[in-house]
Amino acid sequence: MPIHILPEHVVAKIAAGEVVERPASVAKELVENALDAGARTITVEADGGGRRLIRISDDGSGIPAGEVELAVTRHATSKLQAVEDLMNIATLGFRGEALASIAAVSRFTITTRSRDESAGVTLRVEGGTIANRSMAGAPAGTVITVENLFYNVPARLKFLKAEATERRHIAEIVAWYAMAYPAVRFILRQDGREQFRSNGSGELGDVLVEALGLDDFRQMLKVEPADLRQRRPDLPPIQVWGFTSGPALNRANRNHITLFVNGRHIKDTGLAHAVVSAYGSLLPGGRCPVAVLMISAPPAEIDVNVHPAKTEVRFSQPDAVFAAVQRAVRTTVTGQEPAVSIAPGANFLAPGPAPWQDRPVSRPPRSADAPQIDFGFDADLPPAATAAPSQPPKPPFTMPAPGLTPARRRSLPMLRVVGQVGATYIVAEGPSDLYLIDQHTAHTRILFEKLLAQHTAGKVKTEALDGVTIELDRRGREAVERHAEALASLGFALEPFGGSAYLVRTVPDLLAGQDIAEVMRLIIVDLQSAAGEDAARTIAARAGEAAAYKHGRTLDHPAMQALVRELEYCADAKTAPRDGSPTLVHITAEDLAKQFGRK
Ligand code: ADP
Ligand code: MG
Repeated sequence: MPIHILPEHVVAKIAAGEVVERPASVAKELVENALDAGARTITVEADGGGRRLIRISDDGSGIPAGEVELAVTRHATSKLQAVEDLMNIATLGFRGEALASIAAVSRFTITTRSRDESAGVTLRVEGGTIANRSMAGAPAGTVITVENLFYNVPARLKFLKAEATERRHIAEIVAWYAMAYPAVRFILRQDGREQFRSNGSGELGDVLVEALGLDDFRQMLKVEPADLRQRRPDLPPIQVWGFTSGPALNRANRNHITLFVNGRHIKDTGLAHAVVSAYGSLLPGGRCPVAVLMISAPPAEIDVNVHPAKTEVRFSQPDAVFAAVQRAVRTTVTGQEPAVSIAPGANFLAPGPAPWQDRPVSRPPRSADAPQIDFGFDADLPPAATAAPSQPPKPPFTMPAPGLTPARRRSLPMLRVVGQVGATYIVAEGPSDLYLIDQHTAHTRILFEKLLAQHTAGKVKTEALDGVTIELDRRGREAVERHAEALASLGFALEPFGGSAYLVRTVPDLLAGQDIAEVMRLIIVDLQSAAGEDAARTIAARAGEAAAYKHGRTLDHPAMQALVRELEYCADAKTAPRDGSPTLVHITAEDLAKQFGRK
């Protein structure tokens, strides 16, 4: 065959193959367009794993009627003007290829109305050729329907996976964008059934409850944005935030580490390794965490134009990104605050010269069984510039707001349960040390704080009893009268029952199944010598103690891990509420080394 230039429709199909690999790629490109158009609600419908139909409806800006034909033409975009713009891409799309590519390999219908125009337009494209155009009444926004994907590309059709696989990929795409854009409401329906919905509240946590399920989400820890440049103004401003799992929630591989850069989902084995390595020995060997992390960096630091599907990015300073991710996760899982306090959103300085760029920076191997690296974060970082950068301060780079609510403060680092000793103590491992936890006093502390928190919020949950009577002497009756309010507000309803008897009608629900008469006796004895303002704490301490796991009780691993997790977040994790006795013994790595005669 002599050399010849391929006809345009062949070129278009080849190009389309790069952008549109499978139905989920269509969903991805169309969702990105809806986001770029400022949509607040995006509905994705798919039938037959997206092969029969994919429809994306948005309430974004719409396309002016006069530009609809252009929108489905290759290399037509409203998002990029010149090559220099490639260095500063703030939209998800920019290549101007998606609509043309999708329309080239499907039966494609777009109905759109610009917010600024009164009438909309419907354009139908069949295999890349415009088949029909009409004016249409439509709400502002865009609806794109893609039917019979790849009907004219039999080779591609043959390689599509089972419907269930394609369905899963579509669901994954929608969940990813819902995570990256928690302020946008996403709805996914497949084969007529609603599969996923986010509420658009702006809180990543709300999306994750939907995407991961409440049980798993409960085990996630919030990663707060912290900027290395607070300490190291010579580094680019990189922020990392999101959620990463407590060590009890782990998976066999890294597929559950979900990463976004500037609102774009990416796959990056190096950064996934940064997440795994941040756990050190906190995870059981070979296991990987579940994480959803947002990374923000100035667009100029990132090249997204690596692949037509835009799932890979290149960083101009990959080691700084690696360190930022590792450090953010590490800080979260160990509960150790960085040395310098961080004010998120503080002004960043303009990037200074990068004198460290020619210094070899240790980079972890990229294989799955890479050895754990050490956590001297400062050692991981390139050395500081000798002089402070001279540029004037620039406004901070802003990202879609990380939907943050104040997290509970932890008072212990993240601990991994190793086992139980003598049905009494829980052995746990900290970042580099050993914790022996008394299961009874620790559980008492947890239940005490829980009950007091419910009390403060006026929401003590109660359990109704059928007729427990107690006999009280004079001092006991006085104590009950004097502290009646505290007792009532903690869920104890007592009423006189003739003579010296009292009837206990309700108790806080954590006491369900306990010997109520005995608990009441102990509480009332303590109340006799309690000052008014101490009454609530006195009662809660006894109640917690009564309900806590007893010594001698064998606990399974999840129960121990749950207990330890809750203890980590107690305001005062280290002492028992009633007598201040220790809940745990902490043996540092140094202590251990000394015990073994090592220095
Ligand atoms: P790109 O997104 O790379 O610019 P596309 O082919 O995906 O290229 O889209 C072409 C153009 O069509 C976009 O630049 C945008 O102006 C317009 N467009 C596409 N989808 C939408 C939408 N849902 N709402 C508004 N405008 C859209
Ligand atoms: Mg696009």
